[in-house]
Amino acid sequence: MPLELDASEMRRIAGLAVERVIDHISSLSEQPLHRVTGGRKLAESLREPLPELGTPIERLLKTVFGKVVPASLNTASPGYLAYIPGGGLFHSAIADFIALATNRYVGIWLASPGLVQLEQNVISWFCEILSMPSTAGGLLLSGGSMANLVAIVTARKERLPADFLRGVVYTSAEAHHSVAKAAMIAGFPTERIVSVGVDDKFRIDLRALESAIDEDRQSGLQPFCIVGNAGTTNTGAVDDLAALADIAARHSMWFHVDAAYGGFFALTSRGKRVMRGIERADSVTLDPHKGLFLPYGTGCLVVRDRAALRRAYSMHASYLPPMQEHDDLVDFCELGPELSREARGLRVWLPLKMHGAGTFRDALDEKLDLAMSAFERVRALPNVEIVSEPVLSLFTFRFRPSPHEGDEERLEAHNRAILARVNDRQRVLLTGARVGGRFFIRVCVLSFRTHADRIDALVEDLCAALDEPVKPSAQLG
Ligand SMILES: *Cc1c(COP(=O)(O)O)cnc(C)c1O
Repeated sequence: MPLELDASEMRRIAGLAVERVIDHISSLSEQPLHRVTGGRKLAESLREPLPELGTPIERLLKTVFGKVVPASLNTASPGYLAYIPGGGLFHSAIADFIALATNRYVGIWLASPGLVQLEQNVISWFCEILSMPSTAGGLLLSGGSMANLVAIVTARKERLPADFLRGVVYTSAEAHHSVAKAAMIAGFPTERIVSVGVDDKFRIDLRALESAIDEDRQSGLQPFCIVGNAGTTNTGAVDDLAALADIAARHSMWFHVDAAYGGFFALTSRGKRVMRGIERADSVTLDPHKGLFLPYGTGCLVVRDRAALRRAYSMHASYLPPMQEHDDLVDFCELGPELSREARGLRVWLPLKMHGAGTFRDALDEKLDLAMSAFERVRALPNVEIVSEPVLSLFTFRFRPSPHEGDEERLEAHNRAILARVNDRQRVLLTGARVGGRFFIRVCVLSFRTHADRIDALVEDLCAALDEPVKPSAQLG
């Protein structure tokens, strides 16, 4: 069979794949939430040498949908309330299909000015959502970790000399590890990445931050970057971003906000209120594959002065055509580390254009309501201790029956058992976390597929788990 497929073969294989996908998505709400035990056996059974000859697509699809895809955490399920849920809008799969099948080049502007412009539209819509000024710009990246990395390198370039090893980055102890990882990759030794303590709501302690900056400055170091959180992964805390913007301004530091989880709640009026001050950031990490319900592989960095990205990443090569001089026309390869890249813009553009921002705002408002109603009902359960209330769509709690009172180890075992029992019922999937020696259970509502019926299931399954016997189950953290 030639690599160039004819029209009827293209129709045939696309049809087969589409049928499989639609069957899969249509049955999502009845599928189990996790099926990962035996994963190692499965992995071993899939190993094979380089195939010399071809296999019919029917058999390959059978393997993928019958064996490979089901053995997973069901991240696309409406019951997925673990970690930070994604989503996976079907529209984006169609957009990716078009982008991949047409295979246009979007690393440089002149190779596909229209596709580059659609991606720029998406970025400027994000800037608008964040109320950034007209100087702002950015680019789509594979995820929040890459966005944090691109941001830290930009901050380093903008605020430090070429010999930057005296530079210090400050963030809270509750920041995502990708911030410290970004600083590490950017060349900073671990002692130049300062984890400032948090208050009782898990927000960065502003006084501790200021005194750390003052002390470091006095000892000859160069504090250059503050990373604020707009929705921490463990507890959903949103730092006082306006206060952080003030501190950064006072010390002429770069102010980055990691809004990978929370950022798109700025579409809603409640989210906007909670994240007040985000519009003053020098850069913001967003994860459309979280808060805009897109498929994984879609992150974004927005920078207040888009010229800063060019200063950090622009580089010339004789085999490339001349880059655009006009400020409105961008070559994405000048804004980040990638040259050849996917046309990521289309997968954001298509669903936003098909539905309009209002549909996304309503969906995000629904998530805020669902998290609040889940919280109110969990708070009413016996022996519950609320660790963090929902600031956005994430809250945390644990059960503290009197026999285990004061014994953290037994409390952790007790709460892990409850977590396992809830997850064993396969209607919702929750994960836990440990902060300051306390293990707790998290609920994060962020899938466009999650509606009130799953919150009912969550509360029912929690109630049942409170008096059910323990069964062994996969530990998901
Ligand atoms: C998810 C997350 C990240 C990392 O983003 P990836 O897209 O997984 O690389 C960073 N920060 C926060 C707050 C997150 O929730």
